[in-house]
Amino acid sequence: DAPLLQVRDLSIDFGTPRGRLHALRGINVDVPKGRIMGLVGESGCGKSTLAYALSGLLAGNGQVTGGAILMDGQDVTKMSDRQLRDMRGQRVSMIFQDPMTALNPVITIGRQMLDIQYRDPGTSAEKRARAAAMLDRVGIPDAAAQLGSYPHQFSGGMRQRVCIAMALLTKPDLLIADEPTTALDATLEVQIIELLRELQQEIGCAIVFVSHHLGTVAELCDDVTVMYAGEVVEQGDVRSVFHAPAHPYTQALLECDPARIKEATRHLPTIAGTLPDLVNVPEGCIFAPRCAHAWDRCRAEHPAARRASAHHTAACHLLDTEART
Ligand code: SF4
Ligand code: MG
Repeated sequence: DAPLLQVRDLSIDFGTPRGRLHALRGINVDVPKGRIMGLVGESGCGKSTLAYALSGLLAGNGQVTGGAILMDGQDVTKMSDRQLRDMRGQRVSMIFQDPMTALNPVITIGRQMLDIQYRDPGTSAEKRARAAAMLDRVGIPDAAAQLGSYPHQFSGGMRQRVCIAMALLTKPDLLIADEPTTALDATLEVQIIELLRELQQEIGCAIVFVSHHLGTVAELCDDVTVMYAGEVVEQGDVRSVFHAPAHPYTQALLECDPARIKEATRHLPTIAGTLPDLVNVPEGCIFAPRCAHAWDRCRAEHPAARRASAHHTAACHLLDTEART
């Protein structure tokens, strides 16, 4: 079976006053049906850009300059606005860091949940009942009565639950979650992650989970893609990547101590040095200026993805054992 989602050699530029910013370069990611893929990296690494591109929500100044995003073989980058709307309503849903991004402040929750089901069969009464059942499922007390409430009448954690209910109401094949727990305190975060995991098992959807919290990714995800400065540097089975990281960037993120991932801080560790300028992308390995292992080849030649273990790959010349000098 082909994966549900296949990102192939995807490149995205943004127009800026300084020139074209090469935000994503040569991205390859596969997400099989029903799997949870974590996307991790520092802010500015392109993980949110990728998440938005997957659902056809690239900002106006963003442009796909190469490659494809295939959902069941259909290229999202070539879809019309209408096809994108249909895909987002039915096959792909998103939840965001700020729940208000997804909610209309002047329309009741019930009305918004009815609108989402515009293509589903059934009467309005049946759709309202489905909406209430879903709100109840995500833990909104007195769900049926809450259909008449407006978004601001809920607390932050409850609002994110409402967003999850709305995102999963149409039983999508793919849920894209962009740091959905970042704005919540640690207790609420644990509850929301637990809820996502349960619902994912009930609905069977795949999830792309954008996060800078390695502990959450270790707990929730099957697979992980580690991004750095607009490129994928390491990816594969989450246990393989976190327990035997092969790329110096991943190693730095994990501080070479996989046992500590679970209790890790909620934020990525700081790594010395700054991100490269993506308007003038340097030759060679993008991580070379910050890499303790860099040698001549790293500054001259871009490293290709190579097998790092049976279940993961990394893009680093250190893995090219034959050519290593
Ligand atoms: Fe470091 Fe070279 Fe590997 Fe890049 S290719 S991560 S610079 S060792
Ligand atoms: Mg982001």
